[in-house]
Amino acid sequence: MKVLVAVKRVVDYNVKIRVKADQTGVDLSNVKMSMNPFDEIAVEEALRMKEAGTADEVVAISIGVQQCQETIRTALAMGADRGILVKTDEELEPLHVAKLMKAVVDEEQPGLVILGKQAIDDDCNQTGQMLAALLGWAQGTFASEIKLGDGSASVTREIDGGLQTLDLKLPMIVTTDLRLNEPRYASLPNIMKAKKKPIDEKTPEDLGVDTAPRLSTLKVQDPPQREAGVIVEDVAELVSKLRNEAGVI
Ligand code: AMP
Repeated sequence: MKVLVAVKRVVDYNVKIRVKADQTGVDLSNVKMSMNPFDEIAVEEALRMKEAGTADEVVAISIGVQQCQETIRTALAMGADRGILVKTDEELEPLHVAKLMKAVVDEEQPGLVILGKQAIDDDCNQTGQMLAALLGWAQGTFASEIKLGDGSASVTREIDGGLQTLDLKLPMIVTTDLRLNEPRYASLPNIMKAKKKPIDEKTPEDLGVDTAPRLSTLKVQDPPQREAGVIVEDVAELVSKLRNEAGVI
């Protein structure tokens, strides 16, 4: 079975986000970019399937600017076999990404597509669900365990207050949650090997997908500044502050 894994290039999770002065978005100049953490988990899971013999090829796909190639190279260095870059300088919305991925799925015919549950830059949590709807495939979102069977898979999902286990027919879409696995680091020899692995380049036009914007961002703002805390002398002062200043008791 072929597994397609989505890897998005996002602002590294350690970076302190700066909002542009004109509030049109986040300042990306000179900012470290990395693979979306949930996508590292997606790559890891696909690699474990290959190592277990349930998958025979792992293909990493990234959609965006030319530098997304670096994100694909990271997936290749972890162990993916080849990459697909859908190159565009347009700003994309989850529906565009899902339509582009559907076009690639139609060409590649994977048995399973693994995406992150959400991208840490836009926090949309939409692309996997939209892709499943466009393909008419089963979806197991927020997966914390995947057990592949013959023509089906059992997917354990993290839901409010517990776990839900679903039996889903293949082909299917899975989105990863944090506890699915712990992604590996790429070793130096594998980073070298990854340089020779193929990355196929396509454009939205090649795939027949219109990426004209459907949403417009009105403004992006920093969260309100947290006020400094105070140290209280005793419980009586704490209760008084909670009652009279915070108004919570
Ligand atoms: P989102 O719906 O934007 O929160 O993204 C959910 C998941 O969809 C991400 O974790 C990725 O696996 C995938 N995804 C979203 N945008 C892209 C992209 N431009 N390139 C590759 N994968 C993407």
